[in-house]
Amino acid sequence: MDKVKIFKIYDDKQKLLRTTLDEVTLPLDAKTRQTIIDMVDYLKASQDEDFQKAHPNIRAGIGLSANQIGINKRFFAIYMLDEDGNEIKYGLVNPKIIKNSLRKCALRSGEGCLSVKNDRHGYVYRYAKITLRAFDVFENKVIDIKAEGYLAIALQHELDHLNGVLYYDHINKYNPEEIIDNSYLIG
Ligand SMILES: [Zn+2]
Repeated sequence: MDKVKIFKIYDDKQKLLRTTLDEVTLPLDAKTRQTIIDMVDYLKASQDEDFQKAHPNIRAGIGLSANQIGINKRFFAIYMLDEDGNEIKYGLVNPKIIKNSLRKCALRSGEGCLSVKNDRHGYVYRYAKITLRAFDVFENKVIDIKAEGYLAIALQHELDHLNGVLYYDHINKYNPEEIIDNSYLIG
């Protein structure tokens, strides 16, 4: 694996993690574009076994938002593999949900976050299906992403970061495993 930029990850005690971030002016400047590509590469590396052995203190992640690396701008990176092992990677700027299902879903095992040291158990209900519109650095244009299930959850988790929201804000603290109407669990 090529040399990967190692980011210092901000934790949830940092004020920036609780800040609504600023819109990015397009066209994208070269520096921001490179940062987003570096973020995707970082996520890919974090899931690589050899990289993990060499960097035992770096946690594996599938999403990373600008404020998690100390930047007040509305962008995030996603890197994951689908069930068939195909790469899903996005570098998304100024994302917005333009359509969502009424149905919700949540991960049975709960969510995790690189900025939250100890995982907090509980169901985080999110729209089961969304259409997200954003500028993508790889396509170099505004795209609509139709996502469902796990990817839809990951996109909403990252979008939340841009609004200063953390996954555990959504957990019902009186009943973390609450089952809500019109929803299903994944995993
Ligand atoms: Zn997160």
